[in-house]
Amino acid sequence: MRAMILEAPGEPLRAAEVSIPEPGPEQILIRIHACAVCRTDLHVVDGELPDPKLPLIPGHQIVGAVASFGSCADRFVTGARVGVPWLGYTDNSCRYCLTGRENLCDDARFTGYQIDGGYAEYAVADHRFCFPIPEGCPDLQAAPLLCAGLIGYRSLRMAGDAERLGLYGFGAAAHIIAQVASYQGRKVFAFTSPGDEEARRFALEVGASWAGDSTQLPPEELDAAIIFAPVGALVPAALKAVAKGGVVVCAGIHMSDIPSFPYEILWGERSICSVANLTRRDGEEFPALAPKVPVHTETASFALEEANEALNTLRSGEIRGAAVLVVG
Ligand SMILES: [Zn+2]
Ligand SMILES: [Zn+2]
Repeated sequence: MRAMILEAPGEPLRAAEVSIPEPGPEQILIRIHACAVCRTDLHVVDGELPDPKLPLIPGHQIVGAVASFGSCADRFVTGARVGVPWLGYTDNSCRYCLTGRENLCDDARFTGYQIDGGYAEYAVADHRFCFPIPEGCPDLQAAPLLCAGLIGYRSLRMAGDAERLGLYGFGAAAHIIAQVASYQGRKVFAFTSPGDEEARRFALEVGASWAGDSTQLPPEELDAAIIFAPVGALVPAALKAVAKGGVVVCAGIHMSDIPSFPYEILWGERSICSVANLTRRDGEEFPALAPKVPVHTETASFALEEANEALNTLRSGEIRGAAVLVVG
């Protein structure tokens, strides 16, 4: 099969022919239709996340059809459309798994990081961590929901019932969550890189009621802010924008260092938290909610062999919405 392979962090992916993987007892073999590109892929490729499997096939927002299955993998039939997310395996026995927090599992393994992912024609995945893709949801629309959507949704839950919600970094996740938050009756304030007019227009089109530079204060205080950009300096900026009791949610898996800041901007029962990974419960709740909104994902398509170009557009912030590799 064709695959894009990371041989060493910091190097571009290499197009290669490799053998189709064999599904283990709990695995399904998936013929991949599309795989969305996530900022986490960029962190893996750039070496910002430690100890990836090498060589590695990145990609953890996979949509495809079941081609075959292992002896115990009985959740799906051949031909069923499935989605494969970031969370690829948990031990189901540690204190986190046993208390409904499998996203924090000590022995979790992640797709496109410790397990080969979706920048290829086929992938194997543990059937217990795959989701059915609803009929009527096209491959290209569904793929970005599997991480940008799920992690964004988990971050939104962490924001509680905030009426005035700030979104810092307006990419794949924010454009989905702006739609969900508007549907829920919240008022969305979008913060983009200074001078990025295109991102501001985009934010207003998908439901934000205000869009401005991340260096600006919004016209009203916020009840919560979600930071999707991997920029630590946005944490004190967002703290200054939230009202007393407000929460700043850091949604990324990696962020540059947070600069020191005066205690008074945290005072007043403001809080800062991070969002780590996803649970299978998120993977059931969000796809049920998305069609009610309905969420429309804005995508830019790339061929499998254009994976490096797709990552570069994400790195430079040129992308509008989500980049998706269309495989077959
Ligand atoms: Zn566990
Ligand atoms: Zn992701």
